[in-house]
This record gives sequence, structure tokens and C-alpha cells, in this order.
Amino acid sequence: MGPPGGGGGRGGAFRGVDEARQRELNAAAPHVPHLWRRVAALFRPYKGQLALTAVLVIAGAAVAVVPPLLVQKIFDHALFPVHDGHVQSVDVRLLVILCAAMFGLFLLSAALNIGQTWSTASVGNAVTGDLRVQLFEHLQDMELAFFTRTKTGVIQSRLQNDVGGVSGVLTNTVTSILGNVVTVAASVVTMVVLNWRLTIIALVLLPILVVVQRKVGQRRVRIAAATQESLSELTAITQESLSVSGVMLSKSFNRQRVDSAKYREQNDQQVALQVRRAMSGSGFMAVVGVIMSSVPVVIYLVSGLFMSHGNVVISAGTIVAFTTVLARVLQPMTGLMRVALDVQTSQALFARIFEYLDLVPAVADAPDAITVEEAPGPIGRIEYRDVVFAYPDAAPGSRPTLDGVSFVAEPGRHVAFVGPSGAGKTTIMYLTPRLYEATSGSVLFAGEDVRRLVGTSIIDHVGIVSQETYLFHATIAENLRYAKPDATDDDLVRACTDANIHHVIAGFENGYDTIVGERGYRLSGGEKQRLAIARVLLKNPPVLLLDEATSALDTVSERVVQEALERAAVGRTTLSVAHRLSTVRDADVINVLVDGRIVESGDHDDLLALGGVYAGLVAEQR
Ligand code: ATP
Repeated sequence: MGPPGGGGGRGGAFRGVDEARQRELNAAAPHVPHLWRRVAALFRPYKGQLALTAVLVIAGAAVAVVPPLLVQKIFDHALFPVHDGHVQSVDVRLLVILCAAMFGLFLLSAALNIGQTWSTASVGNAVTGDLRVQLFEHLQDMELAFFTRTKTGVIQSRLQNDVGGVSGVLTNTVTSILGNVVTVAASVVTMVVLNWRLTIIALVLLPILVVVQRKVGQRRVRIAAATQESLSELTAITQESLSVSGVMLSKSFNRQRVDSAKYREQNDQQVALQVRRAMSGSGFMAVVGVIMSSVPVVIYLVSGLFMSHGNVVISAGTIVAFTTVLARVLQPMTGLMRVALDVQTSQALFARIFEYLDLVPAVADAPDAITVEEAPGPIGRIEYRDVVFAYPDAAPGSRPTLDGVSFVAEPGRHVAFVGPSGAGKTTIMYLTPRLYEATSGSVLFAGEDVRRLVGTSIIDHVGIVSQETYLFHATIAENLRYAKPDATDDDLVRACTDANIHHVIAGFENGYDTIVGERGYRLSGGEKQRLAIARVLLKNPPVLLLDEATSALDTVSERVVQEALERAAVGRTTLSVAHRLSTVRDADVINVLVDGRIVESGDHDDLLALGGVYAGLVAEQR
């Protein structure tokens, strides 16, 4: 059995699948309102804090529009008070009061700003965090087949790059839209109060900007989708080439140059896409900038024309105040345009995230699933009834991997599988813990079809030692406690002694606190495997699945581990796969598998006497 999510080696066809998905995603544009409803739903648990944010934002925006009104008062009533058409001397008292009020407003605005930043950052990051965990947990529920056909890096990229990419939108959008809309609305009201004619002139250009924004936004969605796709390829190459196994492979075949050429090519694509993305936004923002900055100039011009041609009087205070409000309105307007663009762009990323969240695990608990304890048969009894199994990605029309496999393992019995490579021995092991599901026929655990049992309940009763041992980059003790977090130090020593690894660990400078290194590369193959056996012994399950558990051991340690396993197997049902026939000699039943069918079945002596495939294999290994 390979490690879950190991290298995902069989994922060659995935690129094509992803491209096809991309086309589907592009075609899925009409579902956009649905998409935003889902995004909004993510904020539901934070309603209270969102309301607080809204209050702070609205208060902040409202406070920010008052100073221009005070500016008008300062100019027209305090600095240059006009009475009966004559400019009077400065009203110092009023000037001091108005300036103090303005200063107070600035302080209040700063305080509101701090509160708003805290509130926004905490809600936005909490929602991003929730989304990340939701995606992680959903992917954990996916069946093993999903991980064998998908590159690990591609999965990691959705979690890191896509969720990371929407984090900004989730954090800033609500505040930004709310704050800017309130500021713009309040400013527009202020402008109307100051002079309605000038307001119309100032706002006439807005609709053009909205149309341009929509067009640019649509272009950016396409670029963003391509960018994320290329980013996930880049992550996949990194993950595959810069892992311990990947580096070993490329070094042993001298393929570093080829690998870096592949990386460089993908990277060039990424760079080009990022530049396109930046440019498509900046062109638009430049247009916005020019239009926005020109508005005050237009106001001076139009005010002059109004006054010289029409019979309209506009005071200097009004013009100064109006352009001050305008200056204040330009920033939030530009901000709104930018948010609209970012939100539209993030649509592509959200679509990718939801696409993964919407994947339905092929192996899931039935709604009325029962636990192993509730099953009718004795715990530890395993039965396969006419099991046919084909891998989901097998070529259509090809022969199934398992073709009518039937056997019974009574509690405490050892049932072994031998046979040529590729016969389907490992596949048989996959079906008991329901890592894959039988295409037809049934697998019974404790007398109940595994499809009717709670998945975690089966796993609780099964210990697996696979062909390839997976260890975390952590200490030996931590790797062992993965199986039993509350295991005492004595428990660890006992399990390791039984697995014939304790004396090796005791010889390390840091003993059980030795870091095993990425995927256990600091240990020898045999040491890793014995550690894996110790880990399973610690779990102490009633069923053992041993897939060539002793294949990496030398003859001496094989014998010692074999004894340990035999001791451990007492009272447990054991299904084992072995190439070295010596390890299954004492099994209660040996099934010989050829091309997915059990062709011989019996104990060692029976099968030898039969003089068939088994006898032939034994003769070969002598
Ligand atoms: P070995 O003794 O070499 O480990 P085995 O008897 O354990 O072989 P399995 O690993 O069960 O054989 O594989 C049986 C067949 O199923 C092989 O032809 C293999 O190529 C195919 N196979 C295994 N895993 C997958 C998969 N994830 N997708 C498609 N085919 C697979």
C-alpha cells in the first residue's frame, strides 16, 4: 500500500481534467449570484462583530465628511465674515471654536479608524481561516482514489494560494464597500447642500467609469483563473521535485536541468500572467485617476462660467469647501472601483475553492450506518463475498483488478495472500478498511457489509502496516503516539521492544526524542518498518493488515519481527500479503492470487501437496 497522498504518481491525466474543469468554470459564470450568496454565508457566524464593524465604519465615514462643512464656516464666517456686502475683521472666537472642533473630529476619526481596522481584520481573517479549515476537512473526507489521481501540489495550492488569494477580499471588501459608500453618499449630500448645480457637473462622468470597470473586471476574472491554474502547477512541480524522493530521483537520473527548465517555463507563464493582471488593473485605475483629478479643474471652470454668464453667485468659501469635499470623495470613489475590480477578480478563486468543497467523497458513511460494536457478527471476522473490483481510473473494458474474490477470516485467524506481482494482493487489503469500495459483491466486517458501517469505527478496529512506511518529520515518540496519543513512555518501550526496534532507538543520542527526518529518511528501511509495526502494536487493534510488513528486514530481524508479529497476532485476525513465503508458512490459510482470482487455498502443507502455483513459488524461492 502506498502512503495516502504520497506522491500522487498516477496523476498524469489530471492536467487535462483540470483544463476541462476550467472550461466548465468559465461556463459557470451565470451562477455568480449563487456564488456570492455562498461567500456571504461564510460571514453568518460573525453577524454580531460584522454589525459592530458596520457601526464603526459608518461613524468613521460620517465624521470624515463634517470637516469640509466647517471649512466653509471658517472661510465665510470666521476668516472673511461678510456683513451687508462688506468683509469684516476676523472673528477670532468663532475661528478658535471651529478649529478646535475640527481637531476633535480628526482625533475621533483616528480612534474610530483603529477600532475599525481591528474589527475588520479579525472578522476577515476568521472567515478566511474557517474557509481554509473547511476545505482541509472536506479534503480529508475524500476517498483515497482522489489523492492517487490528483497531484499533491495541486491540492496544496488550492488551500494556500486560492484561499490566500481571497483573504484580502474577505478581509477588506465589507469595510471598504460600506465605508466608501457611506463617505461617497455623505459627501454627495454635502455637495448638494453646498451647490446642486456643481454636484451634477461633478457626477456626470461616473456612469462611464462603471461601464469600463465591468469590462476590465471580466477580463481580470479570466486572467485570475489562468494565474491560479499556473500557480498550482508551479506548486505541484515544487512539491514533486523538492521533496526527499523527488530530489533523489532527479539526482540519480541527472534530471535537475530538465526539472528546472520545466519549472522555468511554468514560472515564465506565471510572470507573464501576473504582469497582465497588474496591467489590466492599472490601465483602468489610470483612467479613473485622470477623470477624478480633472473634476476639480472642471468645477473651477464651470463656476467661473456660471458666475460670468449666468446670474449665479458662488462664494469663495463654497468653491473651496466644494473642492475639499470633492477631494474627499475621489479617494473613496477610486477605492470603490478598486474593490469592485478585486471582487470580480476573486470570483475565479472562489469558484475554484467551492469546486473542491463541492466534490462528493466517493466513499462516505450511509445515513443509517452502525458502529462495529453494533454489528451482528463477532468483531474480527472478515468475509469477502464474490468481490469484484476495478480501479475508478482503469481503462474501460479492461479486466477488473479483483475478479470474484471470496474468503472468510475467522476471528484470531491468520489468512495470507501470495501470488505474482500485480495480482491484486494489496488491493484486497484496501477494501477491508474501505479505502476503496468493491465494484460488486460485498466485504463484511464483524458480519456487516462495510458499506453499512461507520468508516471511523472500522478503522478503530484495524491496524495497517503498509509496503511503504510513512513517518512524520517529528520525534520517534511523536510518530508512535500518532497511534495512541495517551501512550505512556513505558507503552512506547514495550511496543518497540516487541517490534525489535527498542535497542536501536536506545542507541540514538536523543533516544525516543530523535527527529526521524522528512518521511523517516534518517532511518534505514528496516528501522522505519519496525517503527511502523511498533506504532500498530501500540494501537492494539483486533484486526491486523500486513502488506509485506517484513519485506525490508534482513533475515535475522525478519525472524525476530516475525516472532513479534506472531505474538501480536494472537487473538487478532490477520490478513497478510507476502512475497517471502517463509513469513506466511504458519498462516492458517494461504490464498494464492493470480490475475485477481484466488486459484488455490489451504495451509502450507495442503498447497505443497497440491503441487500447483504455490508449490511452484516455493520451489523458486528455495
Ligand atoms: P505487488 O506484489 O507487486 O505489490 P499486488 O498483487 O499487491 O502487487 P496491487 O497493488 O493490488 O498488486 O495491484 C493490482 C493491479 O491494480 C496492478 O495491475 C496495478 O497496476 C493496479 N493498480 C493498483 N493501484 C491502482 C490505482 N490506484 N489505480 C489504478 N490501478 C491500480
